[in-house]
Amino acid sequence: MAEIILKDICKSFGETAVVKHVDLTIEDGAFSVIVGPSGCGKSTILRMIAGLEQPTSGEIWISGKCVNYVPPGKRDIAMVFQNYAIYPTMSVRDNIEFGLKNRRVPKEERDTLIGDVSDIVGLTEYLGRKPSELSGGQRQRVALARAMVKKPSVFLMDEPLSNLDAKLRGQMRSELIQLHDRLGTTFIYVTHDQVEAMSMGNKIVIMNQGEIMQVGKPMTVYHCPENIFSAQFIGTPP
Ligand code: ADP
Ligand code: MG
Repeated sequence: MAEIILKDICKSFGETAVVKHVDLTIEDGAFSVIVGPSGCGKSTILRMIAGLEQPTSGEIWISGKCVNYVPPGKRDIAMVFQNYAIYPTMSVRDNIEFGLKNRRVPKEERDTLIGDVSDIVGLTEYLGRKPSELSGGQRQRVALARAMVKKPSVFLMDEPLSNLDAKLRGQMRSELIQLHDRLGTTFIYVTHDQVEAMSMGNKIVIMNQGEIMQVGKPMTVYHCPENIFSAQFIGTPP
């Protein structure tokens, strides 16, 4: 079970409060999308869930356990970023395997895992290549495969498609939805793009200026916005 609960989470950098009293429950296995304008605190929330940033106050619970003092490597989480940090000098295979380093996985098991994930993301024929010999979409798949090979209970994705062109972005959206269906793990996906949010999530979390404005199913937030911000941001056209 990988339910995630944020309890009254606040985060300040110096004097500036960037996340303000956020309460949020992400159900096990949900595909949740956090959407809001640039600078509203989306990445900060993901980084706190991943353990890369410490909340100023409040508690983060994962799978029934408070993880405030659990280091990132022990949270059973994988994160995929916008500027997917894959290593240019390493082959695709080595990049994927890097996700398993320090985990004492036996060689045979590593090979099976790498074979499985590269099959799922369509990289089987590219394992020997260097990232410079891949397209943008294939590089993003390497980053995904490296996250998947750890078999985490939770995937955190921070604007993972924003460096791709529009056509590829559309294709990768559907692939991520299929991947979620297949893995059944908890996905939290961050984007500033309303269309992307509405087309991907089965739960939408609308944020503005460090606060949650509304949480609900895509059709609910679209048809029944609870405030002017949600109405304008998710945008029933004028
Ligand atoms: P988003 O991902 O929604 O664009 P962020 O979570 O990255 O927003 O940032 C929220 C606010 O916090 C922004 O105003 C940003 O400048 C500020 N911020 C983020 N990280 C830091 C940091 N390490 N130090 C100081 N300010 C930061
Ligand atoms: Mg961000």
